[in-house]
Amino acid sequence: MSVRTGRWRLAGVIGDAGLPAAGADTGTGWELAVDDGVIATLRPAPAGSAAAPTLVLCPPLLNGHDHGRGPGTVDAGIPDAPLEDWLDLLGRPVRPRGQDELVGLAADAMLRAGVGAAVFCVNPTGPDVVDEVRAAARAAYTRGIRAAVVFPVLDAGGDRRGRRRDARGAGAAAADALIAEVERLAGELADEVAGTPAAGLVDLQFGPVGPQWVAEATLARLAEHSAATGRRLHLHLLESPAQRAWADEVYPEGLLPAMDRLGLLTERTTVAHGTQLRDDELALLDERGVTLALNASSNLRLASGVAPVARAAAKVRAACLGLDGLALSDDHDGWAELRLARGLWQAQTHRRVPGAEALALATAAGRAAFGAAAPAPPAEGRPADFVLLDLSPWRHLFGHPDWPLADIAVAAAGPARVAEVWVAGTRVHHRPEPSSRPEPSSAQAHRPREVPA
Ligand SMILES: [Zn+2]
Repeated sequence: MSVRTGRWRLAGVIGDAGLPAAGADTGTGWELAVDDGVIATLRPAPAGSAAAPTLVLCPPLLNGHDHGRGPGTVDAGIPDAPLEDWLDLLGRPVRPRGQDELVGLAADAMLRAGVGAAVFCVNPTGPDVVDEVRAAARAAYTRGIRAAVVFPVLDAGGDRRGRRRDARGAGAAAADALIAEVERLAGELADEVAGTPAAGLVDLQFGPVGPQWVAEATLARLAEHSAATGRRLHLHLLESPAQRAWADEVYPEGLLPAMDRLGLLTERTTVAHGTQLRDDELALLDERGVTLALNASSNLRLASGVAPVARAAAKVRAACLGLDGLALSDDHDGWAELRLARGLWQAQTHRRVPGAEALALATAAGRAAFGAAAPAPPAEGRPADFVLLDLSPWRHLFGHPDWPLADIAVAAAGPARVAEVWVAGTRVHHRPEPSSRPEPSSAQAHRPREVPA
C-alpha cells in the first residue's frame, strides 16, 4: 500500500525556483501537509508554535546524466580507464546484468540518497535494443523514480575515434524506421501506466550517443523530429581529449556551429559531460537554451579531464550535474557529487560558493532534461516531490548567519540523512525507524565507551 498522505512540522525549507519565501529559515519552523499526493500546506508555522524539530524540506536532487549501472562498475568488474579503452571493457563485464537490475538497483540507491529523477541513457547489452529500453523504463517507473529514458542511436560508430564528416550512417529509411519504433514504444509505455501513480514518471528521449558516432543526416533527421514533436534529445558531447581532437580535425570551423546548423542545439536538447568545451562553445549552448549535464566523478574515473564547473556555472544557465553511474564510491550519492562539484567550482574561482548556488546545480538547473517527467518545485497545490532531510546533528547551527540550511545540507547531507523521499505524490523511500537507543547526552558522549563483557 503506497503512502500518499502525511503531516510534518519542519525546521525549515530549502528553497528552489518558484517556491514562495525561497530559502527562508524561520525560528518557528514550517508546516507541511500532503493529502492524496498533493502538497496541501507548505508555509511558515504561526508565531508562537512549538519549537521546530530537525527535519528540513529540500527539492529532490536531479541526476541529469546517467546510464543505470546497477551497483556500479566495480561490482561489474569493469576497472576505471581512459574513456576510449574503458568502452571496450564496458562491453565485457565480469558480472553481466540485465536492464531491470542495472536501472532498478541504481534507481533504488539514488532514491535512498534523495535523487528523485535521473536520466538513464540505455547502454544495450544485447541485440534487442527496443526490449532493453522497455525494460529500463519499466524498472524506473516500478521503483517510483522520475526518469528520462534515452533510446541509443549509433549508426557511424565503427571507428571509436570518430566518423568521417561525410559518413553515410544507416540512411534515411533506417532513421525513419527507428523514429517510428521509438514513438510506438513511447505510446506503449504511456498506455501501461495510464491512470496509475506511475503515469508521467517516464519521458522517452532520443540519444544520438555522440556527434562523432552518428551520421550528420541522422542527427539532422532526429533534430527535425524533435522540433516537430517536442521529443527531447540527449547526447554525449566533447567528453574526452580524443573527442576534442576529432572535433577540431573534422570540423575545423567548429563542431558546435555545425551541430547548430543541423538543428541540434535547442532548449529540447541535453548534452552530457562537455569536459572539453571552450568558453565560446559554452556561450552558444546557453544562447540556444541547451541543458549541459556535468559529470565530475566520471571525468576523473575515465581520465577525461576536470569538469568545467565554474565556467559552466558562469556561462550556461541550464548547467546541472549527472552521476553517469560513476560516482567516486559507486554509491549513486548525489550529495557527495554535489560536494565534489562545489569543491571544483571553488578551486576554479578561489572563492566560497554559497550552498544555495551549488544546490541549484543539482536541482532547479537540471529540470528541463526530464521533459514531461520533470518534477515541479515544491509548493502548495503541486504534486509532492521533495526530500526530507534529518539535519539533527547540526541543529546547533540552525539560524546561525554563516549556516543557511542549504549550506548545512550541501556540506553534510548524504543517504544517512535522507529521512523520506516523495516523488510524484508517493513516498518512495523512508529511512528505517531509528533504533530505540537514546542519543547520549553531551556529558555521556565524552565518557569512554563501555566495553561489552
Ligand atoms: Zn554517459
